Amino acid sequence: MIEQRILTLSRTAAERAVQVRRDFHRYPELAYTEFRTASLVARRCTELGLLVTMGPAVVKAESRLGLPSEAELTEAYDRAAREGADPEFLPHTRGGFTGVVAELVGGRPGPVIGLRGDFDALPIHEAQAETHRPAREGFGSVHLGLMHACGHDGHAAIGLAVAEVLAALRPELAGTYRFIFQPGEEGGKGAVPMVDAGVVDGLQYLLACHLGMDAPSGTIYPVVGEFLASTKLDVTFRGAAAHAAGRPEEGRNAMLGAAQAVQGIFAISRHSEGPSRVNVGVLRAGSGRNVIPDHAFMQLEVRGSNDAVEAYMVKRARAVIEGAALANDLAVEVKSAGRTTTAVCDPAMGAVVAAAARAVPGVRVMDEVLSVGGSEDATFMIRRVQEQGGLATYIGIGSDLPTGHHTPTFDVQDRDFFGGIATLALTLERLGAKGLA
Ligand SMILES: [Zn+2]
Ligand SMILES: [Zn+2]
Repeated sequence: MIEQRILTLSRTAAERAVQVRRDFHRYPELAYTEFRTASLVARRCTELGLLVTMGPAVVKAESRLGLPSEAELTEAYDRAAREGADPEFLPHTRGGFTGVVAELVGGRPGPVIGLRGDFDALPIHEAQAETHRPAREGFGSVHLGLMHACGHDGHAAIGLAVAEVLAALRPELAGTYRFIFQPGEEGGKGAVPMVDAGVVDGLQYLLACHLGMDAPSGTIYPVVGEFLASTKLDVTFRGAAAHAAGRPEEGRNAMLGAAQAVQGIFAISRHSEGPSRVNVGVLRAGSGRNVIPDHAFMQLEVRGSNDAVEAYMVKRARAVIEGAALANDLAVEVKSAGRTTTAVCDPAMGAVVAAAARAVPGVRVMDEVLSVGGSEDATFMIRRVQEQGGLATYIGIGSDLPTGHHTPTFDVQDRDFFGGIATLALTLERLGAKGLA
């Protein structure tokens, strides 16, 4: 029976996935610089017999928000080349085209089914203490100040493992399986350019997943919800420098303008139609104690539980920024660096996932909808698939976390890979063979 073979194959694939995840964990890469990771993902998919597409065909150039500078892209690319990137596939990622799409065509006709995973890291300095397992077991980040602190290293490894399982059964499968490896999920950067390139067009079904969140080890949540719409803004204030004692009246103080903007942004009133969030996470300004600061840079984000609340937060934040600039006679530039939207998963898809997960030994299927506890740009893919009449769900793969997402001591448990891989592989096979039945 095919299901038994999927479980057996998933055991082997999970052992490999744990090792692959450790390798990705050692070499974290930020949005659009996942050169090493993408090249190795493409290499593995090709070895498995999948048809790989890369470059602008899967990441629309003009849709990329928050693209690093040319110098940053080149530096990260060269680093990837030194650190074991695949020499054949690496050139396809040059310039920040780090998405990978790989298709597996089954032996029988059937629907087109997508599985989306992300693989970017965060600007966090990973803990070096022996109490932190990646440090103790030798797979801590070798990139100072960068870390896989959200589990996306695991998502990439899981995606490859599911591809491995299904590739072994290819002649018996119905339909086409499209594996979508997305760059830059953090900060809502990578999904829109992939959607705009058409990578989810033609999908009848789409699955996406996340490790950890608030779900304990051994659990599978077939449906995740409460995605917050969000907008990330990069703001630059420019004023004029002057001697702080000799000619203060000739200065135009960019730091003061930015500081007033920070206060004003946090003071934006709540909205009666739903929860919102706001954070200014970066503020850099000035150059010396006795110089009126002529520049200031800040990074902020606003979020809302629906599009109207989020739009209100963006509008108010922009007004505050412009007001602070005006009050201090500053020039200001506001750039969008990323965004996410809301989405609602299809319960019918959740039911297929739940039925598949129940066939996996050691997995506990949870009935309630798991709150994502933040934002996800997979929502753009979910929405696009649903607009075309397809169905989608976002799955929570539980894992006991030593500390929360986006902290220096974040880690996931090896034992949770099997349940996630087997559930996804079974779900994909069933959707191909039987659809929602
Ligand atoms: Zn994250
Ligand atoms: Zn994440």
